[in-house]
Amino acid sequence: MAKAAIQAKPTEFHRLLRVLDDCGLLKRLYSQNIDGLEAKVGFDTFATDKTRKCVLLHGNLATLQCDKCTCLYMLENYLSFLERGESIDCLECIQRREQDNALGKRLRAPGQLRPNILLYNSPCTAAEEIADLAMKDVRSLHKNHVLLIGGTSLQIPGIKSIIQTFKDAMFRKNLLGCEIIYVDITSNSPSVLPESTCHVQMDCQQFAVNAISKLQHRISDENEQSGKNRRDFRPFWDWN
Ligand SMILES: [Zn+2]
Repeated sequence: MAKAAIQAKPTEFHRLLRVLDDCGLLKRLYSQNIDGLEAKVGFDTFATDKTRKCVLLHGNLATLQCDKCTCLYMLENYLSFLERGESIDCLECIQRREQDNALGKRLRAPGQLRPNILLYNSPCTAAEEIADLAMKDVRSLHKNHVLLIGGTSLQIPGIKSIIQTFKDAMFRKNLLGCEIIYVDITSNSPSVLPESTCHVQMDCQQFAVNAISKLQHRISDENEQSGKNRRDFRPFWDWN
């Protein structure tokens, strides 16, 4: 699985995320994917601070994590160990152990590197941190914000709870202009979404191709008008 992820190429939807970010239109990306493709379009998937753009809700196949100090390592550097089924000691823990040894402190066994992914029905160790980030975003919501949801049937409890948090805040703050756009090829609308959701019944990749094209046209138009008009990207999401 990890090998396939290393070889996988970003999709048009990943390209759209990159264009949105380059235009200064992306506030935060919450991703359920574990293939780490977000990194291949320039998102820092190692960042853990509160200013990070990309939040990988279910972890990242591209990395291994120490089960003691939570340090992250690139998985591709350890493929041969994994293929041989060997355990891998954490270098950071080993270094700390050497320092403790020099200081005559009690020595603890180093942590082991494990795949940095969240397995179904297992507890999410980063749940609190992700909830904090979502609350930070909720506090700064305003009427020009758009919640764009794509490539998910919204069945996993964690993502449903994030959507619910945003939805509640939009109603509470009476953000009438604030939109939820759900892109899905099927006509099913997940129950967590409010009735006012704009359901774009389209393949996500096709949606991305269209959106990139519209964004690029708009940018070139704006350049021609040399910024006479105020930037307004709302029409890009007006798909009805
Ligand atoms: Zn460690």
